[in-house]
Amino acid sequence: MPLIVQKFGGTSVADSQKILAAARKAVRAQQEGNQVVMVVSAMGHNTDLLIELASQITDQPPAREMDMLLSTGEQVSVALMAMAIHSLGHEAISLTGAQIGIKTDSTHTKARIQSISTERMRRALDEGKIVIAAGFQGIDEEFNITTLGRGGSDTTAVALAAVLEADACEIYTDVDGVYTTDPRVLPEARHVKRVSYDEMLELASLGAGVMHNRSIEFAKKFSVPIHVRTSFSDVPGTMITALPEAIDQPVGGAALAKNEARVTILGVPDKPGTSLAIFSKIAAKAISVDMIVQNVGSNGIADISFTVLNDELRSTLHAAEAAAKELKAEGVRHDDDVAKVSVVGLGMARQTGVARRMFRALADAGVNILMISTSEIKISVLVARGQATTALRTVHQAFGLDKQPAEEATDPEPAPLAHRGDAVAVVARLQKMEELTIEDIALDETQARVTISGVADQPGIAAAIFDAVADGGIFVDMIVQSYGRAGKAKLSFTVPQSQYQQCTNLLKSLVDRIHCGPITGSPKVAKLSVSGIGMRSHTEVAIRTFRCLAEAGINVDMINTSEVRVNVVVEGLYGQAALACLQKAFADARQ
Ligand code: ASP
Ligand code: MG
Repeated sequence: MPLIVQKFGGTSVADSQKILAAARKAVRAQQEGNQVVMVVSAMGHNTDLLIELASQITDQPPAREMDMLLSTGEQVSVALMAMAIHSLGHEAISLTGAQIGIKTDSTHTKARIQSISTERMRRALDEGKIVIAAGFQGIDEEFNITTLGRGGSDTTAVALAAVLEADACEIYTDVDGVYTTDPRVLPEARHVKRVSYDEMLELASLGAGVMHNRSIEFAKKFSVPIHVRTSFSDVPGTMITALPEAIDQPVGGAALAKNEARVTILGVPDKPGTSLAIFSKIAAKAISVDMIVQNVGSNGIADISFTVLNDELRSTLHAAEAAAKELKAEGVRHDDDVAKVSVVGLGMARQTGVARRMFRALADAGVNILMISTSEIKISVLVARGQATTALRTVHQAFGLDKQPAEEATDPEPAPLAHRGDAVAVVARLQKMEELTIEDIALDETQARVTISGVADQPGIAAAIFDAVADGGIFVDMIVQSYGRAGKAKLSFTVPQSQYQQCTNLLKSLVDRIHCGPITGSPKVAKLSVSGIGMRSHTEVAIRTFRCLAEAGINVDMINTSEVRVNVVVEGLYGQAALACLQKAFADARQ
């Protein structure tokens, strides 16, 4: 019999009427011939209220007691939901995390799932009951109650769907799915029928926040198709699967992170170990770094920039100052009035000229780009906060995100169960994936690097450069524009080695005209990409990468990071050595 997991978020169980409505949906699904597992969140804003209550008692509630408190929210919901199902004449059983057997580690308030036992749920399902599981909670070795972090019920739902090999995982919420961008910011945002796991991962990290990121990681790992939909009607929502919405569309969504701050460490020695010294200090304070943009140095020194959330600027600056001192850097600069605009799309990995389109549109709208970072499926630019909404609207329009795509991707095949593995294997892998899973360490030795220094800090320069490059038929891979000094930024990008000469030639006359330069570069670089799951929650990926390259004495010329990948560019001759040392450094985290 098919099995379906239905998760109801706080707004979908906010009052008794909504609980009854949710119960009816579950009953209907059962009557349609499914076994049904419901996962429910705390009612409405109950979790917030509980947090508020705790803060009235103390500023520093013990984390264990916080979990004890917060888990009650879900316990209320499951009990009421079971009563609701009974009142409709059907059978149900409510289960807490402990009763299901969701074992986690002991990191209170952000615990990670280690294993889930399926027997009790299976038994109840086979008896014809609807199983109602409390979201967000688990239990550690010592039977302490733990919680999975805010929004963690999504993760419970997807994890249950994975271990039960569910045929569908429906996430009921107060929005009817995923949009091309946040509709509260841009009313012209369009509802999408489908988005891929990778796009969703990048979008969630970009502040789109429809679902808990870990839940998407689980779903990707175990090929659980997710259907995000509204609980207030029957309209179809958005499918999150391996496929994007349309095959030929380069961009699937755009996002704005409004409260960013940029930090630049000026004049650090351009030698192995520099990034390590900086980012390990920041990681030690548990600050999560967003865009890391490092560009090739000149005259033995380099500037390193990165962004953090504005709230964390103060503590970041402390760490950055300490690193600067240790490295005998020239100083630390920051700007707390910036925002990050990003576009994401699986399709851009296969298309040329996507970056150019974005830069051109921004230039035409008079938006100045302060920093650029690209990955296979994402392009992010940092702009002044005052221009954030204009920038978002501009790129949303430039990629036609407000219009329905002409050709939609065809329905994905439901993932074959055999591919997902049986429950025992899934459970065994769960713990591993809550740790870090590295899927691939790749070396690309086909690229060359082009660097333009002295890029004027004004709109239109990146656009002019990439227009020229694209018109020359040159395929650009990784782009990094770092914050410069005295209003002069530095832009580096990689191109195929076979096009290196042509590219530098065609840029020579252009840079004179736009008063930039000089152009430097390297005819052969090596690009190394470490990709996997749980990268962001594991800042250590970037740090481990820096550490192992530093120990091998290999200097990093360019860096950028995304939710699923860390890319570094080094001189061509070090490619193989860098690959070998990365493989060694991540040996324990390989799938
Ligand atoms: N109730 C928890 C929270 O509000 C978990 C969840 O809703 O997903 O964060
Ligand atoms: Mg919630």
